[in-house]
Amino acid sequence: MKIINGIGASDYVALEKMYFIETVDYEVLPKEGFDPKVELDHFKSVQKQALDELEILYQQTLKKNKTSAEIFKVHQMMLEDYDYVESVEALILKTYSASYAVYETGKKLKAFFESLDNEILNERAFDVVDVSRRMLRIFKGIKDNKELPKGKFILVSEDLYPSDIVKFEYSQIAGFVTKYGSRNGHAAILARTLNIPIVVNLGDKFELLPEEGILAINGLTGEVILNPNNYVTDIYKEKLKEQEEQVKMLLKYKDLKAISPKGKHIEVAVNIGSLNDLELVKKSGADGVGLFRSEFIYLESKKYPTEEEQFLIYKEVLSKLEGKKVIIRTLDIGADKKVDYFNLPKEDNPALGFRAVRICLKRPEIFKAQLRALIRASAYGKLAIMVPMITDLCQVLESKKMIKEIMEELKKENIPYDENLFFGIMIETPAAAIISDVLAKHVDFFSIGTNDLTQYTIAVDRTNAEVEELFDYSHEAIKRLVKLIADNAHKENIWVGICGESASELSLIDYYLEVGIDELSVSPGKVSKVKKAIIESKNG
Ligand code: PEP
Ligand code: MG
Repeated sequence: MKIINGIGASDYVALEKMYFIETVDYEVLPKEGFDPKVELDHFKSVQKQALDELEILYQQTLKKNKTSAEIFKVHQMMLEDYDYVESVEALILKTYSASYAVYETGKKLKAFFESLDNEILNERAFDVVDVSRRMLRIFKGIKDNKELPKGKFILVSEDLYPSDIVKFEYSQIAGFVTKYGSRNGHAAILARTLNIPIVVNLGDKFELLPEEGILAINGLTGEVILNPNNYVTDIYKEKLKEQEEQVKMLLKYKDLKAISPKGKHIEVAVNIGSLNDLELVKKSGADGVGLFRSEFIYLESKKYPTEEEQFLIYKEVLSKLEGKKVIIRTLDIGADKKVDYFNLPKEDNPALGFRAVRICLKRPEIFKAQLRALIRASAYGKLAIMVPMITDLCQVLESKKMIKEIMEELKKENIPYDENLFFGIMIETPAAAIISDVLAKHVDFFSIGTNDLTQYTIAVDRTNAEVEELFDYSHEAIKRLVKLIADNAHKENIWVGICGESASELSLIDYYLEVGIDELSVSPGKVSKVKKAIIESKNG
């Protein structure tokens, strides 16, 4: 038995055989003097083989899970991307070998994505490495043929790449262990979504793991035990039993209405960021979408997404959710979410700077394209438009004026839309909270963004690990503001929700019910837990 520790990033345990995937880093040395014509042909043929492999993987995965299969389409697009091919060809024309050109281009693109000040785009670096590895393996003539394991297993790897994970049935994976990675990396997010444990960042201790063996892992404490003895095995079996009972027990709440003991129905909705999350929404048992972070559409694009592109996305979300309420938040770019093509100025205090509605109102052509797309999509479901980072009544009035003008335009153009769509705002600044009595007269709902409200009220940077312990959703100041906002909303007969992370903080749910919160919007994996807490609340 051997015990090592990493960082636990998803609160579950697992006890299973390990399945080790080697992530070979192929290195190619720069050598010149190759014939560009021969190398170009070589590149094209390897690219074609890689595209064929990806097509097979896409078709195989499609049968299991449409969303996961999309990863292979993205990889195909990357391989044929103009910038990618151009960079490879430029190196080949300098007489480098095709494999070096692919290796170097992959390295350059990886560094580019990692350098961006944006977590979502940083994750793209993984896809680049994944695609490069596939190409370099084909250059070396190695087949991708390690036999897939049967039954359940814990996936162990230095790092997990998207195409490594989707090869398996999700139900086979009992947990993950990685040498690298962080709490917010893509593997950790997937583990939390699947409700399985993950231990990341074992560092050098990772080398202590052999290729085969039994592992007991704890995603809460970060403990990884190799070949546990009978005593530890029994403890883990007991924990697993409790865990299974908990999951089974929570399943009972999934499709229940979250009605508090005093008879109030609290809507439990989910926060999502892309079309890929729609399947999770359906599976979660949520009443609707409480926050669709539309800025992800901008973050994943290389240019301003057009009205038509956005319309198609919003229409799909609304249609697929079949009449459930979908709150789509307008662009919340700026601060920690930067996009190159916006050419935003460098700021000393970006969290207090040019972001969200401030950008939208100063650059109305951007805002208008989004609002037109949203209003057109409203004909296909139950849409609520929500504007973030409000600090002043004039921002609400200006946004509403634009919506009214667009509706008149669409009417003249004979384009359908829902005249009764909801219009609401996020209350996530102390200013908005303090004047929420005034704001409530002009909107259909409030959604409290406790992430930013906490950052701005306690004056604690939400992205700074040094002050993490001061970031406290249950600080008396935040609780008082939440009550003030809820009271002001109800005086004007509008509803009020919470879409910040604290909405799933079980220790706060009693308080939220006591002050009359009407909706809680949480991540899909938390819906059943929150419903249970509401149904069993003492204050509801
Ligand atoms: C919030 O601030 O609470 C919120 C939900 O918005 P974001 O986390 O996207 O800033
Ligand atoms: Mg916010």
